[in-house]
Amino acid sequence: MGSISPELESVLSVLGGVVIVCDKTASVIRASPGAAHLRLIRRGRIAFDEIAECAADSQVAGKPVIRAVTVRRPPLRKGWLDLRVRAVPLEGALSLLLIDDLTEENRVAAVRRDFIANVSHELKTPVGAVSLLAEALEAATDDPEAVRHFAKQLQTEAGRLSQLISDVLDLSRVQGDDPMSHAYDLSVDALVAGAVSYVTAAADAKGIAIVVGGDHDAHVFGDESQLLAALRNVLANAVAYSDTSTRVAVAVRVGESIVDIDVKDQGIGIPEPELDRIFERFYRVDMARSRATGGTGLGLSIVRNVCRNHGGDVKVWSVANEGSTFTIQLPRYNGQDPADDHDLAPAMAVPSDQKELT
Ligand code: ADP
Repeated sequence: MGSISPELESVLSVLGGVVIVCDKTASVIRASPGAAHLRLIRRGRIAFDEIAECAADSQVAGKPVIRAVTVRRPPLRKGWLDLRVRAVPLEGALSLLLIDDLTEENRVAAVRRDFIANVSHELKTPVGAVSLLAEALEAATDDPEAVRHFAKQLQTEAGRLSQLISDVLDLSRVQGDDPMSHAYDLSVDALVAGAVSYVTAAADAKGIAIVVGGDHDAHVFGDESQLLAALRNVLANAVAYSDTSTRVAVAVRVGESIVDIDVKDQGIGIPEPELDRIFERFYRVDMARSRATGGTGLGLSIVRNVCRNHGGDVKVWSVANEGSTFTIQLPRYNGQDPADDHDLAPAMAVPSDQKELT
């Protein structure tokens, strides 16, 4: 590596982020570890012409150049890296490059934009139905039977709207929230009992038996309302997507560091090609069936976010027309302070790139 002045050396030592000093042939004189991490340097030179050009242009202009640059992400060159490059000309035909990786920030912004577009789209259907039903009601004032019919349908659509709004609120809460800010030692038995009691009425109405078994006395550390919501969603789906007089089994398995909660149904199952997609927001295998059961397509997305925020995950096994098993996996809590134990600390256990905002 070439030499630079002691003054520049001391400036570089206090600069954070990704920093590269290069000469006019794009050979790298100094680079921070972040530059290697992003693989912006190859064989001692700047790996991307677009970045080298920023340096060259700032030399020619004799003043800083700021540019947004998007390059294929090395080494596979499949995804993209969104970078903000600030190039500053230095003495001796050297250039200082300060590079910000905006990929994650842009991805999150895109996910938010999509989410807002999706929510608006999903709201349109029930709102449109409410408005049509109001018109029908007005036209049917002389026919009490028709009035009752439309009023009932209005109630259904209003219920759907309120479910959608509450799911959207739940999802945005679990996406933005750190569950450890209100986390407690929770009994898995109590969580299961709470979730089961929530779906008992719906199960009874369909003659579905809910059987709870497996290990007892396990504990997890987390946000009670979030974990209850996750379990409830999985159980409610097991009931909603099962025929009458079937069985839903809940089984807790306590491993050394993980607690598995299996929810197994004998329902309609999920075709193999759809299995990857059911955790996406608003994704439904069968839109008509989901609407008929009052589904919003957000339930499993909430479940996955909650599990991952708690350092766990959710898995599914399913065969169409036979049934499905959803497994909620959570780190087991054994009384230690979770901050002392990386396996139990959600923020540590889940690499940030796995915290999908789906
Ligand atoms: P929804 O509100 O539509 O139930 P979810 O996000 O909870 O949305 O589930 C997404 C989709 O996955 C559902 O629409 C349904 O097609 C499918 N699904 C979820 N759970 C089950 C299950 N236990 N059996 C069969 N299909 C299921």
